[in-house]
Amino acid sequence: MKKRESFLSYGQQWITEEDIESVVAVLKSPFLTQGPKIQEFEQKVADYVGTKYAVAFCNGTAALHGACFAAGIREGDEVITSPITFAATANAVLYCGGKPVFADIDERTYNIDPDEIRKHITPNTKAIIPVDFAGQPADMDAIMEIAREHDLIVIEDGAHSLGAEYKGRKVGTLADMTMFSFHPVKPVTTAEGGVIVTNSEEYYEKLKRFRSHGIINQNLSKDEGPWYYEMVDLGYNYRMTDLQAALGISQLNKLNNFIERRREIAHLYNEALKTIDAVILPYQLEGVRSGWHLYMLQLKLDKLKRSRKAIFDRLRAENIGVHVHYIPVYWHPYYQKLGYTRRMCSKAEQFYEQALTLPIFPKMTNEDINDVIKAVRRNLMIEK
Ligand SMILES: *Cc1c(COP(=O)(O)O)cnc(C)c1O
Repeated sequence: MKKRESFLSYGQQWITEEDIESVVAVLKSPFLTQGPKIQEFEQKVADYVGTKYAVAFCNGTAALHGACFAAGIREGDEVITSPITFAATANAVLYCGGKPVFADIDERTYNIDPDEIRKHITPNTKAIIPVDFAGQPADMDAIMEIAREHDLIVIEDGAHSLGAEYKGRKVGTLADMTMFSFHPVKPVTTAEGGVIVTNSEEYYEKLKRFRSHGIINQNLSKDEGPWYYEMVDLGYNYRMTDLQAALGISQLNKLNNFIERRREIAHLYNEALKTIDAVILPYQLEGVRSGWHLYMLQLKLDKLKRSRKAIFDRLRAENIGVHVHYIPVYWHPYYQKLGYTRRMCSKAEQFYEQALTLPIFPKMTNEDINDVIKAVRRNLMIEK
């Protein structure tokens, strides 16, 4: 066994001097929060994806909460989503009093299967939250068609897919609202941060109010004086700071290069691992360009002498930061207490049991990539 000197995590940020200067400039300016950098960042995100509006939040989870609020999700409403996601996707529905309904995945893409969505539609269904798992856009044409047929709102969880494309269109322009996250492992970072992009003025206004206590200071019912404002919704303090926005502005300049590098790494993995019989490589839907947030392998356990856990442990012992994305959301104890039962989504569960996440992030060196490839080959007992 050849152990790497340093631990190679599955994902990590890439911060340059330029990013640091951008943040320091805000520290020296009059506004640390509620200043001009927020709007500049929002405009830059909206221009990048090609939407009319973007609303920044303190994190992606708060942004999803905002989108569910803007969509009018409340008690009695059902929202269909994927079980192969981070818990935050479904939690946002619960925050609004709605009920997450889990539809099974397409076993090829690991994204929500449009046919499974259809099976779960009831008179109470109000929205769909597809997740662009690993950076590959969900099958949005099929999903939007279902939504139009049944008058449903679509909120795309694009936490993994900023910069990804679906049939020549950028993620962000496909759904009614789309969320992007700027957590350090995501395509670009603001440390913590999130955004909702939309073309709807109505959602835009609601999102802006929601992130700041539900307060408005324009179009007021009274004109008491210049100090006057009104709280019209029960909002939150979900604002992003100008420090974060400044980091985001600088990071967005690098997004296309970051994605290019992620694609290169994925290609190198694909080429190096395609001859291994005991793994399933990531499959890409026709016409889709993934952002490659995650590189997912599936292990064919019947062809391997070791369990997934044993392979995982051995790779970790070699400082290869493999991971597993994701535990089906409804398996979590909190969801089990709410009455969700195991075996609801058999394809999602099978995927989870066989999944292994390999490190992928733009700052990885070719040496890092080779370390991963060699270690994976060795531990799947295919010594080259
Ligand atoms: C990261 C992530 C979120 C939440 O974003 P935060 O910015 O961490 O709050 C939601 N959904 C998915 C799929 C994610 O990966």
